[in-house]
Amino acid sequence: MTRDKHDEARELIALGEGLSDAQQTWLWIHLDGCEACRLYAEAANGVVRVLRSLPLAADSRLVRATQMRVRFHASRLRETRERLWLVGMACLGVGLSATLTLPVLWRLFAWVGEWANVSSWVWQAGFMFFFIAPALVVSVLLLARGTHLTNNGEHSR
Ligand SMILES: [Zn+2]
Repeated sequence: MTRDKHDEARELIALGEGLSDAQQTWLWIHLDGCEACRLYAEAANGVVRVLRSLPLAADSRLVRATQMRVRFHASRLRETRERLWLVGMACLGVGLSATLTLPVLWRLFAWVGEWANVSSWVWQAGFMFFFIAPALVVSVLLLARGTHLTNNGEHSR
């Protein structure tokens, strides 16, 4: 057998299923008498089988990975929205109550300062503390609530 016949056989093996009956018969006869080409054909068929089984496995893995990623992203978005909503409502509440109570508080502190006969910076400092304290408390509460939300999301994952 010449080298050309082996090359031809390997070409036919590479073509796989698209062979004519004559080519198929010729290849079988050649493979029957040539161990090197028979091993080549077995290896080629093995590769083809692996290649055929790969796309399915890759597909389901890819689908699962994509679904997980989408779900993770969605839960992240929801957490962010919940936290932003909480922060927004808290800011609104603090702003509203501050606007409503600020003039009253200011007058109350001025009156107390006058009644206690202290200099104006003392009652003004007291006023500032009472004005800032609720905002500080709300900030701390929001931070704690935000951490709580994050932890919940991570546990459910
Ligand atoms: Zn051969």
